[in-house]
Order: sequence, then structure tokens, then C-alpha cells
Amino acid sequence: MHRFHHIIWLGSLLLASSIAAQEKDEPMKFGMVIHGGAGTIERSTMTPEKEQAYRTALEQSLKAGYAILERGGSSLDAVEAAIHVLEDNPLFNAGKGAVFTHEGTNELDSSIMDGKTLAAGAVAGVKHIRNPISVARMVMEKSPHVMLTGEGAEAFAKEMGVTLVDAKYFYTEERWQELQKEKKSTAPKSDQDRHGTVGAVALDKAGNLAAGTSTGGTTNKQFGRVGDSPIIGAGTYANNETCAVSCTGDGEYFIRAAVAHTVSDLMQYKGMPVPEAAETALENARKLGGTGGLIALDKDGNFAMPFNTSGMYRGKVGADGKASVEIYR
Ligand code: ASP
Repeated sequence: MHRFHHIIWLGSLLLASSIAAQEKDEPMKFGMVIHGGAGTIERSTMTPEKEQAYRTALEQSLKAGYAILERGGSSLDAVEAAIHVLEDNPLFNAGKGAVFTHEGTNELDSSIMDGKTLAAGAVAGVKHIRNPISVARMVMEKSPHVMLTGEGAEAFAKEMGVTLVDAKYFYTEERWQELQKEKKSTAPKSDQDRHGTVGAVALDKAGNLAAGTSTGGTTNKQFGRVGDSPIIGAGTYANNETCAVSCTGDGEYFIRAAVAHTVSDLMQYKGMPVPEAAETALENARKLGGTGGLIALDKDGNFAMPFNTSGMYRGKVGADGKASVEIYR
């Protein structure tokens, strides 16, 4: 019995180190890493068609970002373009596929940060914006503010020439059913229906980092609730001196552990390499009770994509243009 346990223990250790080896690839000269949310994502509950649809979407997103980086475009442009693809796809909990609040509305949050200037922009609780990441960027570049919420954010978007969409645009049958299920459930909240937030981090040829995140938040949230995704330092952070980070998970805990900024701090003040800094920051949220994951890319092209759930939709592309996508552990 004792020996048997040892074999299992050794087996999981080998498995864990092979995962680490797989994901600790060569640093990229330029490139990007994306996520499409972390949570309970298991092979047993996924159809081959659905899995393929997720993979295709992640590849399209990487392709959109890569095309910009490859021709010498900025990491900010790449992040925005990659997130657009995922916001427009109903599979992800961002833009079109945003989850419902308890009241049956959709309230979207997003943020973006420029690692070169430390400029940042965010929107929270918007209900009529098709691509919140683009309005977050407008807040950063065309307003004196960092974050705009609700009606104020939408008025600003309109002023900027953005066409608002009807709230019905965000209705998807699958998300509606998830809300009904969650409302009926008496079980403690699980991360089953939470995954799907999207994020991207990029390093361009000029050596500039950028990060962005976009989400519908959490199913059955109270209206007015804001998670970590639009909060600079919690869900998103970028600094050319350290790294670019985008998080996904239980927002309440990611805010309290200031996860994205902590990754940068651990690199800057403790000299930690990015994989260790990312693991440590994620563990801080887990210690408080929050699960999830993050993507982080440093100024030298090293990256990490840790998560403590059963899966995280994720992918990367480096200078060679070869996109790779993963879902499960
Ligand atoms: N972090 C997001 C939020 O709390 C949700 C998620 O990443 O799944 O709004």
C-alpha cells in the first residue's frame, strides 16, 4: 500500500514536471500569449466539435495579433485585435457571449495597459458596447481618465463615434440557461460556469509590452458588481521593466490579492523569473479562497500560463508564427 502511494506520488510529480517543461518554452523575440478563461473544463464534458470550435477561435485570435506584430505593429494593437476576435465569438464570456447578471442583464468589464508609458484605460458595467476592449483603449488614449463606468462610459464611447448595440445583442441561449441553472442551484458556487473571460499579453518588435482583459463577469452576479478584469493591478497590468499580465478567475479574490501587479512586483523587487512570480501571485489569491489562472509575458519574451482549475483556454505564438493552443491541464 505504502509503495503504491509512492508510485502515484512519483507519477504525479513526473506529470507536473512534464507540464512545466511543456509550457516553459524558448523565450520569444516577439509574440503573444492569450487566454479564454479558466475553470472546470473537462474532456469528459466537452464534445469534439465544441473543443474544435474553441481551438479554432483561439488560433484566429493569435493569428490576428501575430499579423500585427509580424509587420512591426505595436503590442497594444495586437492585444486589441486578438481580444476583438474573442469578444465577437459567443463561446467566450466577453462581448457577444457575456454571462447574465441575476437580473438578466449583461454588464461588461474590460481594461488595457501600455507597458511603455504605464498608461491604462478601463470600462466597467457597460451594457451596449460590442467591443469593450476598444473603448477601454479610447479611455486610455482619448480621455484624461483611467476608468469609466456604465452610462458615463457609454456616453463617452458614443462621443468617440462608437455605435452602441441593443442589449439584445448579448443574448445567447447557452448563457441564459446557465443563469437559470445557477439561480436554481442550492449548491455552493462552483467555477463550473465561470470560465470564458478573455485576455492577451504581447511583446512587439520594439520591445514594448501590453496587456488587456475583457469579460462579462460572473453568472448570476448582482447588477453593479465589478470584478478584477477592469481593475489595473488586479486583472490587468503591464510594465516594460517587468512583464504584462492578464488574469481570469474569482474576481473578488484577484482584486484583494492584487494579482497582476504582484507578478510585476515580485519580478521587480524580488528578482523572480516570470514563471515563479506568476505562480506565487496566483497562489496568493488561492490562499484567500479564489481559483483561476493568468498569463504573463516578460520583457525578454519568457512567459507563463499557470492555473489552479482543471482547465484554462490558452495559446501562444512566437516570432516563428507557429500558434499553439491548449485547454486542459
Ligand atoms: N475574473 C472575472 C470576474 O471576476 C471572471 C473570470 O475570469 O471568469 O469578473
